[in-house]
Amino acid sequence: MGIKVAKFGGSSLADENQFKKVKDIINADPDRRYIVPSAPGKRFSEDIKITDMLYRCYDLAKRGEKFDEEFALIEKRYNDIISALSLTLSLEDDFAEIKSAMRAKVGRDYAASRGEYLNGKILAEYLGYAFIDAAEVIFFDENGRYAADHTDYVLSERLKNVERAVIPGFYGVSANDTIKTFSRGGSDITGAIVAKAARADLYENWTDVSGFLCADPRIVNNPRPIGIITYRELRELSYMGATVLHEDAIFPVKSAGIPINIRNTNKPEDCGTMIVASVSTIPGDEENSNVITGIAGKKNFSVISLEKDRMNEEVGFGRRVLEVLERHNVCFEHLPSGIDTMSVVVNDLAIAEDKSELIADLFEETNADSIDVESGIALVAVAGHGMKNMRGTAAKIFGALAEANINIRMIDQGSSELNIIIGVNNDDFEESIRTIYAAFEN
Ligand code: ASP
Repeated sequence: MGIKVAKFGGSSLADENQFKKVKDIINADPDRRYIVPSAPGKRFSEDIKITDMLYRCYDLAKRGEKFDEEFALIEKRYNDIISALSLTLSLEDDFAEIKSAMRAKVGRDYAASRGEYLNGKILAEYLGYAFIDAAEVIFFDENGRYAADHTDYVLSERLKNVERAVIPGFYGVSANDTIKTFSRGGSDITGAIVAKAARADLYENWTDVSGFLCADPRIVNNPRPIGIITYRELRELSYMGATVLHEDAIFPVKSAGIPINIRNTNKPEDCGTMIVASVSTIPGDEENSNVITGIAGKKNFSVISLEKDRMNEEVGFGRRVLEVLERHNVCFEHLPSGIDTMSVVVNDLAIAEDKSELIADLFEETNADSIDVESGIALVAVAGHGMKNMRGTAAKIFGALAEANINIRMIDQGSSELNIIIGVNNDDFEESIRTIYAAFEN
């Protein structure tokens, strides 16, 4: 028997009907042995997530205000699920304990984590699986960082003795024994951690979309779904704004070589997106002939361009530029350069406050002949593992943009040839994405 870890997001467990779909999915494949739930999410667009309700209760408690009314709404949501599923489980003791812990102000993370904790208890009961409290198996160190090695050791030992279990997402325990959560959306990370510890064959991440789309549907009409994508491409696209999976969820499974499959709880027949280490991992990939995997981007960058005669002969020029940026606490995104020019692409916000001091320091440190700053630049990343072996990809992108009358302000292609980054004016951002998409997909 294989092992699959299945994480279900908040919308997949928002009410009793969603719980039923989840049970059907789990029962359809005996390999789905370890299940990681989020807290109940929104049932309709104006609804409030349980996690947000818990934060609100805690904030009231912390100010010494009453929160019973708000907390009663949380109790009702769980109790409605329990009775609709005809379970005999009672969470009344847990509710009482959580309320008194909130009054004792034990921590905002503790309060938020109870959403997953309670949902995990219900799901375990409903499935007939064991319940493993994440506080017993997921650890943070004294600096508040996730303790990967310790967790992997304890959790993998624990799972060896449990054939099927529900482990709530989003939280663990810190060095001083208090509950700590990952950042929002962090159940994705728990799922990846469990997959690694279980030495799983696959990490399934069940949500309310059938995987990643090749471009933002708010910009491109009906974009193609992505069938297969590498971890690295995903990282490029997520960084540039494509969301579905928490960015940090990639690392635990990537290091263990476990593929991630993004699936849709409401459309379990869809294959979703498979995220793999390299494209050859999946047999049958030969059919996947798309050159471009995805297009994503972000607005509001600045390009700082330094020019100096004979820059290429000057040892340490780049270091001096980067040192100045470091002193000003500015991260750089890209460094396209020419023989006597060097450009640094940074986020507009990162230099908004002390732009003139930064430029003055750069002049002083580098003796550049000129330094120009251009703001309002958007970056568009075109990612694709197929690009490397395909001649003419760049020509196709740039030709299409020229035809659409879009002025390209910057080009950067990593040596991995995994992606091409193009800088355009903010105003041309959406049209650039549509144009590139049309050049490859039509
Ligand atoms: N419930 C948490 C949140 O709303 C964590 C998660 O859903 O992944 O952020």
